Amino acid sequence: MKKILALILCAVLALSFASCASFRSYEEIEADGKLVVATNATFPPYEFRDDNGNFAGIDIEIIQAVGEYLGLEVEITDIEFDAIITSVSSGKADIGIAGMTVTEDRLKNVDFSDTYATGRQVVITAKDSGINGVADLAGKKVGVQTGTTGDIYASDDSSIGSVEQFNSGTEAVLALSQGKVDAVIIDNEPAKKYIEKYDNLVIIDEEYTEEEYAMCIAKGNTELVEKINEALKALEESGELKKIIDKYIAAN
Ligand code: GLN
Repeated sequence: MKKILALILCAVLALSFASCASFRSYEEIEADGKLVVATNATFPPYEFRDDNGNFAGIDIEIIQAVGEYLGLEVEITDIEFDAIITSVSSGKADIGIAGMTVTEDRLKNVDFSDTYATGRQVVITAKDSGINGVADLAGKKVGVQTGTTGDIYASDDSSIGSVEQFNSGTEAVLALSQGKVDAVIIDNEPAKKYIEKYDNLVIIDEEYTEEEYAMCIAKGNTELVEKINEALKALEESGELKKIIDKYIAAN
């Protein structure tokens, strides 16, 4: 009798685990015909809104090309950067693409596609700030975008005086232009875009780190990762991937 009870208990547990997979399988996505994508469209040239309010940028065009390759419509949801991993791991979105760096910590919560671009963390400061290198950040007030690798590095760097978090890079750079923080640590290509409208800001000539960008997918959604990688490979081989990147980043 005890054995039977134990067996029933196991079966119930197994069933409830199976049904609580918190993501849509590739089959389900395919049946729906639509890939739900989470991004944070404040990160040019990777994702932003153009003058007409439409999504634009490298990541947006890559995911649209991936969708086209897989025969799926792409539905983009614009949320805080900080919320993307939760959105994907809870199954709200199938995939996140947001100039997101692959890190050991994030790998605990999500899986990543193959890398499709590299990024670098750089320091932006005012021309006359006297900050000429990373070491000069000692004791300074540094602005970052919440939850980004820039945030993590700044928070881990005990020489930095204090770290101020902002919802977007745009807001961090605005605060810098107003003298509310001494520097901002952020990804290189967005940094170039953010400072375009400020004459008094510069990117200092010493990079913080080199990173790899990839799309995040719910942990265990292996088939979706494989499909995305297959699409990325095809886009790379056809030259489409390079074409998209070159359209937004001047080749150097
Ligand atoms: N690459 C950085 C990160 O992954 C910043 C990404 C972003 O702000 N969209 O944290």
